[in-house]
Amino acid sequence: MNIPLVDLKAQYKSVEKEANKKVKEVLSSASYIMGKDVIEFEKEFAEYVGVKHAISVGNGTDALVVALMALGIGKGDEVITTPFTFFATAESISFVGAKPVFVDVEKDTYNINPSKIEEKITEKTKAIMPVHIFGQPAKMDEIKTIARKYNLQVIEDAAQAFGAEYKGKKVGSIGDVGCFSFFPTKNLGCAGDGGMITTSDDNIATIARALRTHGSGENGQRAYNLLNNITEEVKTSEGHDDTVYNPLKYYNYLIGFNTRLDTIQAAILRSKMSHIDMWNEKRRENAKLYDEKLKDSSITVPVTINEGKSVYNMYVVQSENRDEMVNKLKEKGISTGVYYPVPMHLQKVYKDLGYKEGDMPAAEYLSHRTFAIPIFPELTHEQKEYIIDTVKNISK
Ligand SMILES: *Cc1c(COP(=O)(O)O)cnc(C)c1O
Repeated sequence: MNIPLVDLKAQYKSVEKEANKKVKEVLSSASYIMGKDVIEFEKEFAEYVGVKHAISVGNGTDALVVALMALGIGKGDEVITTPFTFFATAESISFVGAKPVFVDVEKDTYNINPSKIEEKITEKTKAIMPVHIFGQPAKMDEIKTIARKYNLQVIEDAAQAFGAEYKGKKVGSIGDVGCFSFFPTKNLGCAGDGGMITTSDDNIATIARALRTHGSGENGQRAYNLLNNITEEVKTSEGHDDTVYNPLKYYNYLIGFNTRLDTIQAAILRSKMSHIDMWNEKRRENAKLYDEKLKDSSITVPVTINEGKSVYNMYVVQSENRDEMVNKLKEKGISTGVYYPVPMHLQKVYKDLGYKEGDMPAAEYLSHRTFAIPIFPELTHEQKEYIIDTVKNISK
């Protein structure tokens, strides 16, 4: 039996009819940039997450970069984050000219360890960027308490966690800003690249909207006014001020980007929104089955926190013989993924930050032990049984 780590073809099958119809509509509408589906998707997304604003962008990395810039974070600033994440988390901080400061993770939840944050705070610290890694919320109450005490902003990297909840609130609505990715393998993915910024702060939203389109247009002027303490009101023209018909399109107020979500991608994502709760629930059911069946094997199963509801973007287990396990599973047709083999503080690109092996013991420990087994919602009963039996046999 051959089982991929993520089955994108199976996922497409379950939305094929609607997605095809919607994509065709976009193609014939010829409204490819900031079309109706983008505007509607942003509204639906904001409502789902429970925030006032959702600002779509070209990918999750840009979401993080634009969010940091919208918060005014840049050169000379420090941002606290986790070393056990995808590179884009740290990269976005470096990209805006700030310095990523790593705080070790918890060995069981894989998320940033709140009890180790305070000792890393300096005069230069401006923000904390927790990652809801593999779909499980970080300990947001503890993080927000520290952020409040030191007047820091909180940027949630929710790239892997659309729909995850912490104490009944959706991730992306808990910090000052939330950032999502629609990379195809994320639990809400499109057919290419895409991303989203969420916030309930009007000013952050205005600046983010301006930055995504060359700092131009009415949002550009609004952002400029905000940043320069000008109180004059900028009127919204007929239609939507983010469209290509914006009368201030060729008037630029900030140095920004061209990072927008394609209308076609928004249409595809809209066709998936009615499925996402069911898909996330299936992931949780699969995780529960694995938890039960694998807890007595030599594999260490992931720990979930009581105050959170994970969406299991990945089901990441630990083994002392990780590389051997991964190879043997491959021989049996089961694909796995190693997340993450090199923690951020030991990446070559960050050698000048001065970290050394031993600085982040938990992240380093995990980097030698963790791997993901298939958890996607379309897994059949037979596939799950096969995965469980194979993992048990191999890990004996
Ligand atoms: C995927 C991911 C990103 C970046 O998203 P892209 O859409 O690939 O740019 C950022 N942070 C984390 C934790 C991710 O998993």
